[in-house]
Amino acid sequence: MSMSQTPASANPKVGFVSLGGPKALVDSERILTQLRGEGYDLVQTYDDADVVVVNTCGFIDSAVAESLDAIGEAMAENGKVIVTGCLGKRADVIRQAHPGVLSISGPQDYASVMDAVHAAVPPTHNPFVDLLPDYGLKLTPKHYAYLKISEGCNHRCSFCIIPSMRGDLVSRPVDEVLREAEKLVRGGVKELLVVSQDTSAYGVDLKYAPRLWGNNVYETRMKALCEGLSTLGVWTRLHYVYPYPHVDDVIPLMADGKVLPYLDIPFQHASPRILRLMKRPGAVDKTLERIQRWRSICPDLTLRSTFIVGFPGETDAEFEELLDFLDEAQLDRVGAFAYSPVTGAKANELPDPVPEDVKQERLARFMERQAAISEARLAAKVGSVQRCLVDAIDGELAIARSMADAPEIDGLVQVQDGREAGLQPGEFVDVRIMGSDEHDLYGEVEYND
Ligand code: SF4
Repeated sequence: MSMSQTPASANPKVGFVSLGGPKALVDSERILTQLRGEGYDLVQTYDDADVVVVNTCGFIDSAVAESLDAIGEAMAENGKVIVTGCLGKRADVIRQAHPGVLSISGPQDYASVMDAVHAAVPPTHNPFVDLLPDYGLKLTPKHYAYLKISEGCNHRCSFCIIPSMRGDLVSRPVDEVLREAEKLVRGGVKELLVVSQDTSAYGVDLKYAPRLWGNNVYETRMKALCEGLSTLGVWTRLHYVYPYPHVDDVIPLMADGKVLPYLDIPFQHASPRILRLMKRPGAVDKTLERIQRWRSICPDLTLRSTFIVGFPGETDAEFEELLDFLDEAQLDRVGAFAYSPVTGAKANELPDPVPEDVKQERLARFMERQAAISEARLAAKVGSVQRCLVDAIDGELAIARSMADAPEIDGLVQVQDGREAGLQPGEFVDVRIMGSDEHDLYGEVEYND
């Protein structure tokens, strides 16, 4: 949970609590930008705030609990609370736990949040657009930014309730996204993180509508978006890409250095039967062959994925199939969860739930198997020179990330002589890698003459 900065003034004061992942962050940034634009100050303590906005997350049960706790804390500490975000779609759950909240709205409903803030604490003056930097206010460090390209999802994975909360896919037209990206880059952003529920489906709802941006026409489609973003001269990283056949189209762009050679592609399982039970999108067979082909075109490709172990009905043999897949696929980064039922998800109705102790034991075996693979893949980078982006200076070190590391979820590159070299956050630097562990790399600045 995070609350925002505190300037002292007579302006009305809003506390802001932002929960959830990168997608919720984008919503928070939009609301904060609007609040600042209308002359509200953002304060860091409940005591100082005239009203508190809680941007919630509601994807899995633990996130629901976290959101309800955060609302409860804000109610107890301040008493004037506006709730928005994913969990807002389940107003009954919120009202039951915290009947006194002032207002509840769903994700992207910025107008309702602003109306509720106005009702609780009127603004002191009319908004002046000039109060805003034209790239908006961001909660993330200045040099990277999340670029949300669509909302909702057309799939119906049986373990997921996002479509019932956020609805079907609604893509933003490509020119709108490119204009936002352009502004962000003008404001100093060096890395754009493309997020959505399903990045590879981008534009299908708009029938891939062509749009004019600059002097060129771009289709509202993942590949064209990547082409457009590549003209901005910063890093572009793709998140939540599903293994549809047309994903193959962006691999050459990665090989050409137009988009980071990084795919965050949630496979979730390797057994065709389990994938069918999960109702996962994308071709489920030939995944290994495709990974091999991608790597033959783009040898530096980093693959990140997530998996669910202990899905209802998963047999020992199917779990072994998953472990074999890990050995073969040699993914770089992997996150895994033991299946846990999400209220309202279809998968809860499936027969043969896996007992909790078996799930946990499978999760431990899975993580152990992958940890060795991730560690070996990092160790193979020792001796190489990696292009990195500096996130922070910490003592003598510069904390940076290579092209293989997405912020917040992947590892880091510790640059031992970062301060001595005068590095600054947001700066690109070549780093010679001297060591590695399970997650991170260590190195020194490589001076190119
Ligand atoms: S693709 Fe599946 S898991 Fe992802 S948001 Fe859509 S329904 Fe949920």
